[in-house]
Amino acid sequence: MVNHQLVIWGPKKVGIIESPVPEPRAEEVLVKIRASAICTWEQRAYSGSQQDSYPLLGGHEFSGEVVSVGPGVKNRDITAGKTVAVARLTRCGECHNCRTGKDNLCLNTRFDRVEGKPFGPGGLSEYVVAPSYQIYPFSNNVSFEEAALSEPLSCVVRSIRRANVSFGQNVLVIGAGIMGLLHGLLAKLRGATVIISEPLEHRRSKAREIGVDTVINPKEENVVERARELTGGLGADVVFVTAGGAAAIEEALRLVASGGTVVLYGAMYPPPMVTVDVNKIHHNEITITGTMSQTREDFLIATKLIDSGAIDLKPLISATIPFSQVEEAFQRALDPTNYRIVVTMP
Ligand SMILES: [Zn+2]
Ligand SMILES: [Zn+2]
Repeated sequence: MVNHQLVIWGPKKVGIIESPVPEPRAEEVLVKIRASAICTWEQRAYSGSQQDSYPLLGGHEFSGEVVSVGPGVKNRDITAGKTVAVARLTRCGECHNCRTGKDNLCLNTRFDRVEGKPFGPGGLSEYVVAPSYQIYPFSNNVSFEEAALSEPLSCVVRSIRRANVSFGQNVLVIGAGIMGLLHGLLAKLRGATVIISEPLEHRRSKAREIGVDTVINPKEENVVERARELTGGLGADVVFVTAGGAAAIEEALRLVASGGTVVLYGAMYPPPMVTVDVNKIHHNEITITGTMSQTREDFLIATKLIDSGAIDLKPLISATIPFSQVEEAFQRALDPTNYRIVVTMP
C-alpha cells in the first residue's frame, strides 16, 4: 500500500510524496486519516510568514479510523474500525514537566529533523502510524470533521481550566476567530456569562449565532465602559486575549475585575512589549497567565465533549475540501472570513 503525504516545501509550494504505508510496531497504531483541519502553523508555512519549518509534513488537527493495532497496546478501546483523534504533538513522558503533570510543556517535544527531509505531524496524509498514547477513540457516531477539531478544542480546554472559569462568572473574550469562539462556547458550558469584543462584522454575527451573551464592536463602542456596565461596574472575572497585540493586552488589564485573571492565549508575531501598571496588579490581586497547547487530560476532555455532543463544532467548519484539491483548501484557509477549512481524505 502507498501512502500519499502532503509536504509544504516553501512559500506557496506544496507537493505530494509517496511512501509505503508503515506497519504498526509495538505500542503503535496505524490510522487511516479521514479529516484534517488547516491550522495557523500550516497557514503560516504555506503563506511564508513562518519559514522555520520546511519541508513540513503538515497537519496536526486530524481524525481517522484505526486500521490495525500493534502488539502491546493497552487501551482496549483502540480497535480496528474505531473513529479516533490523533494528538500528534509528541510528549516524551519522561522529562521533569511530563512527570509533574505539565506534559504540554514537555522539554523534548520537537520532531526529529534530518536536514532537507520532510518532518512534522503528517496529518495531511492518507495514513499515519502513531504511538498509542496519541490515539483518542470515540464511542459514538461523531463525524470525522468534528473529531478533527479535538486538537484546537483541547488547547482551549487547557485555557479555560487554567483560568478556572466557573458558574456565574463574567468572561470577556477579545477576538471572535475560531479560538475566541471556542472560548465562548466552553465558558458558556462552565456557566459563565460571555461577552466578546470583535471588530469584524461576519465574526460578530458568528459569535451571536453560537450563543454568546453580548457581542461588542470595539470600533463603535468603548469596550471598557460597556464591560463595566454589563458587569455592575466590576469588570470581567476572566479576560481571554485571543487576538490583537500589545493594545489588546493593555485593554485586558483595564477590563479585568479585582481578583480576576487575564489569559494570554496564543503567540503574537512579532512579540509585543507591554507596559503594565504593577500597582494595579498588586492592589487588585490580578493574575496574568499564558496557556500553551494541551495536556493529555485536556485532549481527553476535548474528545469527550465532542463524543457526548456537549459541544457543537459544526458552525466552526467553513468548508470541507477533498485532499485532491488541497491547494484550494490552503487558499481558503488564508481567507480571514473562514473559520476552519477541513480537508477530507478519500
Ligand atoms: Zn492547531
Ligand atoms: Zn517530556
